[in-house]
Amino acid sequence: MFGMSVSDEMVAAAAAYAEAFVPSGRGASPVRQLAVVACMDARLDVFALLGLQVGDAHVLRNAGGTVTDDTLRSLVISQRLLGTRETVLVHHTECGMTSFDDAEFLETLDRESGVRPPWVPGAFPDAETDVRTSLERIRACPWLISTAARGFVFDVNTGALTEVESAKGGRSLGVPIQRRPSTTL
Ligand SMILES: [Zn+2]
Repeated sequence: MFGMSVSDEMVAAAAAYAEAFVPSGRGASPVRQLAVVACMDARLDVFALLGLQVGDAHVLRNAGGTVTDDTLRSLVISQRLLGTRETVLVHHTECGMTSFDDAEFLETLDRESGVRPPWVPGAFPDAETDVRTSLERIRACPWLISTAARGFVFDVNTGALTEVESAKGGRSLGVPIQRRPSTTL
């Protein structure tokens, strides 16, 4: 190794961040009662795009921004324990998840390691299709208090956010929204 590694740069940045840090004064429950599920794509700045501040929303990111079992686990905890009531999905153009095939990818991993992963890679033909599939998984989840969700595709070239489908009239279990004293709104 020579010079500063990228992680060393991050550690230095974190030290500077701590120097200037001012606590948000907000609690763990997102002030805007929102959860965002977005692709991990490096070009996607979720906070800037959606006008979010620290403390406003849970932001769940993974390859594709697709709703997996683990995403549902986080959404159920987000709603049941931390009071969120609406979910926004953000997929994007030029997503890496449209560039490969699940079966071939699994085959490669199996061949190179001798172990087949227990998970599905989750490649999809286009972002819009996976937004619809992901919204369907939210609607079908029996443990969510609110299935209110909207799905969007972010254009990485123009910055435009386009809605694919809305499930705003989704099921609500009628659990009252908890207003928490820790919020500063
Ligand atoms: Zn992506």
